[in-house]
Amino acid sequence: MSLEDVKREVALGSRILSITGLAAGVRASMGHVSLRDPSDPNRFVVKGRGYKIDVLARMQPENMVVCDLNGYLLDGPPGVLQCNEVMIHASVFKARPEVNSVVHVHPPFSVMMTVLGIPLVPVVLEGMRLVRHPLPVYRHMALITSAEQGREMAECLGKANAVHLLGHGETTCGKTMEEAVTNMVQLENQAQMNCHARAVGGPNHARITDDLIEEYLQWKPLSEPHFQEAVARLGPANMGGSIWSDLMDKAAKEMDA
Ligand SMILES: [Zn+2]
Repeated sequence: MSLEDVKREVALGSRILSITGLAAGVRASMGHVSLRDPSDPNRFVVKGRGYKIDVLARMQPENMVVCDLNGYLLDGPPGVLQCNEVMIHASVFKARPEVNSVVHVHPPFSVMMTVLGIPLVPVVLEGMRLVRHPLPVYRHMALITSAEQGREMAECLGKANAVHLLGHGETTCGKTMEEAVTNMVQLENQAQMNCHARAVGGPNHARITDDLIEEYLQWKPLSEPHFQEAVARLGPANMGGSIWSDLMDKAAKEMDA
């Protein structure tokens, strides 16, 4: 994957944050997704700051900037700096060598539930593993702009895949951009559903229990005889046609139009 390919991926990922509503409306210019350069793990690509129209839905590959793991700008278009909170990405990449993508947005339900001091619990299937145990909370509202703030946030994240930034936003990460973005989409969906659960079921509403999560995780895809018979005749099914493929396709069609 060339650096140009990485820039294209990140431009598409930025647009996906808009398509999925995580950076849309009043928050259309808030947030960013980054991807570590596979050919040089000490640098990453992310959207910058200083565009004529600075919204994620308009990002193009040539708008992207390249930064190092200390947040310094290595390359980018004229007049464009690294984003204000570049240290969110730099600090997580530095602390977590297995992480290749980081997302930071300001999703309203997740932020509101954190302000209310209500830990998210699994109430729907999607993302239930992410919120199975209470997520860490970074208890400062200041934007993450210094190396020290970045380090503190990464320490707070620890080995988790998501951290709440109190009153401000959320940071998620993953081995791939698909994982990091999906974690954010599912986190915000769980937060929204937690809000509904509380409104309907009260403060002591039920949750999907650990036992039920374990039971679900025992599921072995396509192990049943009626599936095995079909696989034997027709071969394995294409399991790659995920929501992510659809989002990437939509984003690419818009970007290349
Ligand atoms: Zn922020």
